[in-house]
Amino acid sequence: MTSQRTRDRLVELLAQLSPLDARVLDVMRQIPRHLFVEEALASRAYDNVSLPIGHGQTISQPLTVAQMTSALLQGPPLRRVLEIGTGCGYQTAVLAALVPEVVSIERISALAAQARRVLRDLRVRNVALVVGDGSHGLPAKGPYDGILITAAAATLAPALFEQLAEDGRLIAPVGSSEQALRRFTRTASGLHEERLGAAHFVPLRRGRG
Ligand code: SAH
Repeated sequence: MTSQRTRDRLVELLAQLSPLDARVLDVMRQIPRHLFVEEALASRAYDNVSLPIGHGQTISQPLTVAQMTSALLQGPPLRRVLEIGTGCGYQTAVLAALVPEVVSIERISALAAQARRVLRDLRVRNVALVVGDGSHGLPAKGPYDGILITAAAATLAPALFEQLAEDGRLIAPVGSSEQALRRFTRTASGLHEERLGAAHFVPLRRGRG
């Protein structure tokens, strides 16, 4: 139930559902998603569903992870990426396999500690995990070529866009009752915004957990 074959089957399904970056699919074929959820849920880790990870939070649906990461990769190569909302660390691991440097911030310290353990066990070494409120980004470690927000905000703080490097992309679910996935690209002439589709994320909250 947690074998390479189940992982391959999930990736085949994702590829049928949506146009996705082949590099992302390769990485998702390799990363053991079942290690990021509690053992009782491991048998469902390769279904295309989000799952509870405790503290009222969820691990994102695999299709969502694949779509957001594909949208982030589109464009010039990414050197440093900020993820806001580490959760269990699965999306973090996907990013770390594709980008030289990943910074990820999580407001619930227990989740950050759990993610740190799994990433260490998987020998992922290019991730800096930070505990704190990322709703205004993390300027101290910026600027970033990419920012990926894995929790939904009604509006995005302007400070987030200031941390984007030239050609940088920010992918985020935006909205409160109805959410849409959006990509903002920083170009020489300003911010370019695209709507990528509907989304269902836990809310981005202010302050530490
Ligand atoms: N990236 C995860 C998804 C986690 S769910 C995955 O791979 O599946 C979203 C996470 O965002 C939750 O863990 C939640 O605690 C966190 N979060 C919400 N608001 C936040 C904030 N302001 N700063 C940092 N993390 C936040």
